[in-house]
Amino acid sequence: MILEVLKYGHPVLRQKGAQLSRVTAEHRQLIADMFETMYAAHGIGLAAQQVGHALQLTVLDLRGVKDRPSTLVVAGKTLDVGQFMPLVLINPEIQPLNAAVLGPEGCLSFPELYGDVLRPESVLVKAWNAQGESFSFQCGGLLARAVQHEADHLNGILFIDRMDRKSKDDIREALETLQAETKAVLALARKQQTRR
Ligand code: ZN
Repeated sequence: MILEVLKYGHPVLRQKGAQLSRVTAEHRQLIADMFETMYAAHGIGLAAQQVGHALQLTVLDLRGVKDRPSTLVVAGKTLDVGQFMPLVLINPEIQPLNAAVLGPEGCLSFPELYGDVLRPESVLVKAWNAQGESFSFQCGGLLARAVQHEADHLNGILFIDRMDRKSKDDIREALETLQAETKAVLALARKQQTRR
């Protein structure tokens, strides 16, 4: 089922996600729905907060991106990123491995808004997969950037919080408009709820 992607201004995007103590049938359904939603929106990553659940759960699939390289090392072996996709990360822990670099980012909760964000070029990731088994990998390039962007979501942190000053100044007005629109829609929904 395709879920609604919540936009900037929705309070759940600022909530820290709860750790999963196990992966239930409900979680597996949510994961399937999140993939369906992400593919429909042509995104490469989606966090549970973006569909209204404050959980430590995110999904990614970079196979659609051909022009931005990634690196991947699992158990000391270099792997093809495409073969590692789709990727489910539950309770992820991220450890930076080198210096931060600027790179362009967008977000499904911020339609048509882009900016440069400073993030470590490569990271070590420890997480659970959809079966609740722990695994780890080392990644760089776009995959490292995407994983960090999604892991931030799980802690209520948004890419605008880390955006380069100049990029943020460029989209400031559009951000304020988007936030105001989201809040207006929420207020209207609340009003309709009390009328019922
Ligand atoms: Zn995002």
